[in-house]
Amino acid sequence: MYIVQIASECAPVIKAGGLGDVVYGLSRELENRGNCVELILPMYDCMRYDHIWGLHEAYRDLWVPWYGGAIHCSVFCGWVHGRVCFFIQPHSGDNFFNRGHYYGATDDYMRFAFFSKAALEFLLKSNKRPDIIHCHDWQTGLVPVLLYEIYQHQGMGNQRVCYTIHNFKHQGIGGADILWATGLNREAYYFHYDRLRDNFNPFAINLMKGGIVYSNYVNTVSPHHAWEARFADVGYGLGHTLEIYQNKFGGILNGVDYNLWNPESDNHIAQQYSIETIADKAKNKQALRNRLLLQDVNKPIVAYIGRLDQQKGVHLVHHAIYYALNRGAQFVLLGSATEPSINNWFWHEKHFLNNNPDVHLELSFNEELAHLIYAGADMMVVPSNYEPCGLTQLISLKYGTVPIVRGVGGLVSTVFDRDHDTNKPLEKRNGYVFYQTDPQALESAMERAIGLWYQYPKEFEQLVQQGMEYDYSWKNPGKQYLNVYDYIKCV
Ligand code: ADP
Repeated sequence: MYIVQIASECAPVIKAGGLGDVVYGLSRELENRGNCVELILPMYDCMRYDHIWGLHEAYRDLWVPWYGGAIHCSVFCGWVHGRVCFFIQPHSGDNFFNRGHYYGATDDYMRFAFFSKAALEFLLKSNKRPDIIHCHDWQTGLVPVLLYEIYQHQGMGNQRVCYTIHNFKHQGIGGADILWATGLNREAYYFHYDRLRDNFNPFAINLMKGGIVYSNYVNTVSPHHAWEARFADVGYGLGHTLEIYQNKFGGILNGVDYNLWNPESDNHIAQQYSIETIADKAKNKQALRNRLLLQDVNKPIVAYIGRLDQQKGVHLVHHAIYYALNRGAQFVLLGSATEPSINNWFWHEKHFLNNNPDVHLELSFNEELAHLIYAGADMMVVPSNYEPCGLTQLISLKYGTVPIVRGVGGLVSTVFDRDHDTNKPLEKRNGYVFYQTDPQALESAMERAIGLWYQYPKEFEQLVQQGMEYDYSWKNPGKQYLNVYDYIKCV
């Protein structure tokens, strides 16, 4: 099968979070299964060019229709750790992708509408006719709309779209100008609740809703979150739309790319190890302490890696730092915040804790350091308010770092409480789960984990090994996506 992924991220060249990991990992798995996979991405100025091999201009004069005129683009091609990627580079005063960051501009809505249009125009003009176009999140929600309303009449009638939603919170909401910009034009037609009109703001277009309405199949990244999005409030207003399209909506759990995330072959860590050589994990703990100037004492290291925002339960992350320190543990945090108030808060904490030899807060995005933390820490807290899938707990399990998670979304489907999960036999339990959002709930789970580490080290090691035995690779999800593709190819 010929599959084209259209996305705003692909790890490690463009990565703001889990979306990048998923786009890369899934593409690799699909290719390993004998499919032809290509990726179309924006050519950001700030992406990691050191992860692209053989970058060259592949299509010189791509004119993308825009507001009745056209924007001149070049398309570059290169290999990102074996994957063939096409990068769209517009030459216009808008400087859509030369902003020094991936997201967070006031015209993000326009930037990614342009990207969606340009990606389809590139497929059309370069005579690429994939069986499946797989797009991701609000940034590419317009792709199936444009395909169905415009491009299928220009020779792309056989392409089918799978649309994956990684986070319902960001939906791409804006005005009708986008219709005129992309050539959809008929304002009254699209400003209808059956199409792109936002369910709550009657004056706004919702790109994610467009993606849901027009795609052949829609999924989010865990079955439990698919349920939550329909029936709880984490669908952020799209629950009703998902209800209408329930027959083409489901949940497929993300995988982890064990070629990139594997303690047996990881080049970013001090000492590679496996379940059989688990004692070597301690050398990474030592290396982590050396690197972050933590004192070398007999204490567990609790870690947090992730974006610092409301979704991730920042108030609980903050609480976890002080609880760990009071309970005789060390704490390492690697995170970055886009919201100024949260950013200031954590910088303040960093200065306040600066001289404490048991804690380090690294407020940046650092892929290499993340590897060493996964390998060197004993426990990982993931106290999210909501979590569509969550990769940090899956990577932690692979690295023998015991996850302590809040029981929501994909976390509840992948972490099984050592003491209380009666649905799993003892030898299949792999971490700690708490449910409420108050600090006491987090404390009780951390207390059980830290207590086991101190009082029953053999049992703790057993728990570590049980976690490492889980297979959360792309093997299973890859098969499920292929089933979806096969199914929609026939509709
Ligand atoms: P989300 O997609 O909501 O950000 P996920 O748990 O699905 O969360 O994926 C997060 C991914 O981003 C993981 O691979 C994690 O290691 C990585 N990550 C998050 N924050 C950082 C950071 N500050 N530095 C390095 N990697 C990070």
